Amino acid sequence: MSFEKFGLDPRLLKAVNELGYERPTPIQDAAIPSVMAGNDIMGSAQTGTGKTAAFGLPILQRLLDEHHKKHSVRALVLSPTRELAAQIEESLRSYACHTRQRVLAVFGGVSIVPQREKLRTGVDILVATPGRLLDHLDHHTVTLNDVEVFVLDEADRMLDMGFLPDIRRVLHYLPTKRQTMLFSATIPPEIASLARGMLKDPIEVQVGVRSSAAVGITHAIYPCAAHLKPEILPAIMKELGTRQVLIFTRTKRRADRVGKLLSKAVIRNAVLHGDRTQKQRIAALEGFKRGQFEVLVATDIAARGLDVENISHVINFDVPGTPEDYVHRIGRTARAERRGDAFTIVSPEEEMSMRAIERHLGQVLPRVALRDFNYEAPPPERQTGLQRASVNTTGPARTSFTSRRPKLRRKR
Ligand code: AMP
Repeated sequence: MSFEKFGLDPRLLKAVNELGYERPTPIQDAAIPSVMAGNDIMGSAQTGTGKTAAFGLPILQRLLDEHHKKHSVRALVLSPTRELAAQIEESLRSYACHTRQRVLAVFGGVSIVPQREKLRTGVDILVATPGRLLDHLDHHTVTLNDVEVFVLDEADRMLDMGFLPDIRRVLHYLPTKRQTMLFSATIPPEIASLARGMLKDPIEVQVGVRSSAAVGITHAIYPCAAHLKPEILPAIMKELGTRQVLIFTRTKRRADRVGKLLSKAVIRNAVLHGDRTQKQRIAALEGFKRGQFEVLVATDIAARGLDVENISHVINFDVPGTPEDYVHRIGRTARAERRGDAFTIVSPEEEMSMRAIERHLGQVLPRVALRDFNYEAPPPERQTGLQRASVNTTGPARTSFTSRRPKLRRKR
């Protein structure tokens, strides 16, 4: 059965058809009827499961059912990162393309002026990151008095990024009579408590095992000495004949260095992290989506919620700090149940963290060795930043050997 069974407006069905959605995903099946009935929702869906349509289609249906002549913000979606906000905006716009509903995303890192102008002319569904939304609220360039539906997306990441106080502030601006949906891949105690305060008799929508890895992913581990990581990465990529690859590193600096390393190996790549300007980030993401770059190197926060079709592989250059981050990272591949592979390069120093991840996943992941790779190569006399920093994987980012050198020279 397709989307017709939900009783959606023909304009929405037309859009869904044009997008080529043949049948609802499990979360859409589970959530759409409850959301349309007006219930609050506590959703713990896996990443890339079709969550945006699960809340977006019922929101649009509601706005169409009770048509307002004037455009005012009747639905608010809060998202932790700019990239995710832009992606939600794009999806919602595609669902709304045959209606007159206006969708706008507002986030920091870009000028506030055009956002003000668009808000002034009227918006029906607002997607926002918490900080920029509060800027607009403080300057009275938006009001939330007409909000009927509030969606808090990726709540656990909001918590990680320290956005909980901002969210509490935003809640004060919202009418108490509203429908609320909270989505979170994991439910740490702070989120459970926020949910209790925000939601009324929520329906729990859980797709798959909470916080488990997305289906269709094949994981493998490539153990090697820390100093061999820069050599094994291009070797793995060559062996696999990889196409669209997303590589994660632990720090922004390491992301930059991996980018350089790949450029040396003549692999077209772009780097995405928090120190990049919004323009650079958009260029990286768009270039990757268009296939201009084979590889996108990113840190966890920058890659949060990325939705790029057909990522064939995720490679963890460094073991992620927490099992939750592992689940989020590999959720970038196998989106909407496409198959994808996730590989993690693990140094002996990182084995403990890797084992914690395996316990979380409830499975021991296969250890793979590359043929024709010299695992015995000694460390170079002078270590590069990448080789050295990978020894300390859980502690804070260290000032690298290479970045310290200019300072020492100046002293001399
Ligand atoms: P989301 O979890 O909302 O970010 O969606 C992940 C990806 O799945 C996006 O590229 C959507 O366009 C796609 N998608 C969502 N729902 C469906 C569906 N029912 N059939 C096929 N693809 C879908």
